[in-house]
Amino acid sequence: MFRLFLDEPIKTWNPLVGCLHDCYHGRCWARIQARRQKRRCLRCYDFQPHIHRERLGKFPKSGVVFVVSMGDMWGSWVPDEWIRSVLLSLKPCWEKPDLTFFFETKNPARYVDFVDLIPPNSILSTTIESNFDHKVSKAPPPKERYLAMVRPELEEFAKHVSIEPIMKFDLKTLYRWIQEINPKMISIGYDNYYAGLPEPTTEEVRELIDKLKRITVVEVKKDRRGLHQHIK
Ligand code: SF4
Repeated sequence: MFRLFLDEPIKTWNPLVGCLHDCYHGRCWARIQARRQKRRCLRCYDFQPHIHRERLGKFPKSGVVFVVSMGDMWGSWVPDEWIRSVLLSLKPCWEKPDLTFFFETKNPARYVDFVDLIPPNSILSTTIESNFDHKVSKAPPPKERYLAMVRPELEEFAKHVSIEPIMKFDLKTLYRWIQEINPKMISIGYDNYYAGLPEPTTEEVRELIDKLKRITVVEVKKDRRGLHQHIK
């Protein structure tokens, strides 16, 4: 059921838009993209959380579909009814073999509240940029995200972890967390938006990648300085 999205372009569908986690001093990819788009919807432009009901059910029907790439649909501020509406609109495509839904959040504890409505053909992802709380986001700290991802209610789902933008970490602890989450795939990337984050050295990242490659598939994202060329 799990499809790796290394070899095919991931499609996006955004029935919800906006986020209040305010990560990385405002240098968040989705917020920057929202600003780049023309002002078709002022709330999208302002990145204020809202629902586009006219988009419900109108998602791509094959491939890997990133559900809500322009925000965090599982943030604590999102009304239950919005999440339920999005998930119910996916119901006709549960278990469609050529379709995988990809969800990502910095508040994965909320996956547990909706576990019965999440399609079985889903990948549940969270971002864990470090095992330390570098206090660069209003989202729950990385340790809470890790503890949510190992909850038994989520055991049946394929998982993914995004270590992006990677920040200074303790190798032993971060590796243990990932091992326990047991993701099908990890994506690692640097801060590409010059947010001034505390970054590890290339050597530290290489060591982490080498260890992770022994337990899962590791995708190394492009980075602003071409460092990925050295750490692949
Ligand atoms: S959780 Fe994601 S969408 Fe929200 S501010 Fe942080 S990086 Fe941006």
